[in-house]
Amino acid sequence: ESFNAAVEAAASLNAFIVTTPDHALDAADKADADRAAGKDLGKMAGVPIGMKDLFATNGTQTTAASHILEGFVPPYESTVSQNLWDAGAGMLGKLNLDQFAMGSSNETSYFGNVASPWRKEGSNAAMSPGGSSGGSSAAVAARIAPAATGTDTGGSIRQPAAFTGICGIKPTYGRCSRWGVVAFASSLDQAGPMARSVEDCAIMLEAMAGFDPKDSTSLDMPVPDWSAALDADLSGKRVGIPNEYRMDGTDQAILDVWEQGKEMLRDAGAEIVDVGLPHTKYALPAYYIIAPAEASSNLARYDGVRYGLRDLPDPGSASGAGGLQDMYAATREVGFGDEVKRRILIGTYVLSAGFYDAYYTQAQKIRTLVQRDFNDAFAKCDVILAPTTPTASFPLGSLNDDPLTMYLNDVFAVPASLAGLPAMSVPATVNEDGLPLGLQLVGPAFDEQVVLNAGLAIE
Ligand code: GLN
Repeated sequence: ESFNAAVEAAASLNAFIVTTPDHALDAADKADADRAAGKDLGKMAGVPIGMKDLFATNGTQTTAASHILEGFVPPYESTVSQNLWDAGAGMLGKLNLDQFAMGSSNETSYFGNVASPWRKEGSNAAMSPGGSSGGSSAAVAARIAPAATGTDTGGSIRQPAAFTGICGIKPTYGRCSRWGVVAFASSLDQAGPMARSVEDCAIMLEAMAGFDPKDSTSLDMPVPDWSAALDADLSGKRVGIPNEYRMDGTDQAILDVWEQGKEMLRDAGAEIVDVGLPHTKYALPAYYIIAPAEASSNLARYDGVRYGLRDLPDPGSASGAGGLQDMYAATREVGFGDEVKRRILIGTYVLSAGFYDAYYTQAQKIRTLVQRDFNDAFAKCDVILAPTTPTASFPLGSLNDDPLTMYLNDVFAVPASLAGLPAMSVPATVNEDGLPLGLQLVGPAFDEQVVLNAGLAIE
């Protein structure tokens, strides 16, 4: 009964693309049986989670919220989802997202927008749950799933977590295997948990993470027992405040909550210090060259031959001969949404012979400078505190004609992505409209613990 009620709530938010109740029930039954038999239980025994529909799930449709992958049923399981099943979790269903994880509002999905369960006080307008992990954030915020997987290429775990008042952590690049995760920008893509509390994120990340020989960029390092070492006492820790994050267009409420965050960390024993991240303003433009460049290459595999949709040109049309090129073109024309096409065009352009040095090489140099900024900053502090986003959530539809403002949503999230660093958003307060605001913690590579501990002092 409670499952059916949750299914109805989920339907009104459009958080799921498909539901898989039997998968979740089987995991619950197994947990019960193991408990009764006195067996050791996995970290996630019986926990019903939502799975972002970017993770390949054996026998269950995996679409990346695209038309081109509609009907694709993988005959294999992603490493991260397999790790979660091995830890005892079960799957409620595949969660909606921005198409191929490209977006910040969950409005680019072929399967329709996702609505946040939050509303502005005094308004009934449907609000964005953030993106691209918008089905994940909406399902967790609406208490439909206690936790969900997300992926973060340039903010897609942290921004939706901030918009919906939940926690989400992007671990160090390489902690979670990318094997079986539909690729967007491979040098940036990283999976992570989204849940109601820092502790739940820590437990779920322990289950998701780990070396995987099937991913050449996987970290060959032990997975620490983060949840056992959670400690909100920050005595002796220095928290860095990057003043370059005070940008025009940032809401006063965000600047205020940043101040409150400093107070909370000071109360937890930390010392607050100023740090410089001087190349911050170049990070977002560099991201919007690097991510589309990698996407244009990764998405070349969707050609109507190997996966999902195939479309043929209209026999009466000029290209109606129906050769291979015509089939590719017709399939990609109907199979990809507008935002995906925009990224492919930008990516192809910046990688083309005449423009490669002007755009792609420059962007890679900026990426190195951003990484160096963080190295210098972490010589002076243990963890960085910043806002997650420059604004709270916005009504669905309100930014559709304004891709640049949409891209600005990730201005504070993208630097940590370019540097491959662990970064978390924790809910901090609600603004005057009653909408949640998040604070972001960024740590040095491999130090998820300091990120989680500082998050614990704020949540
Ligand atoms: N919103 C950003 C983009 O559209 C980030 C997406 C993500 O992290 N997957 O590229």
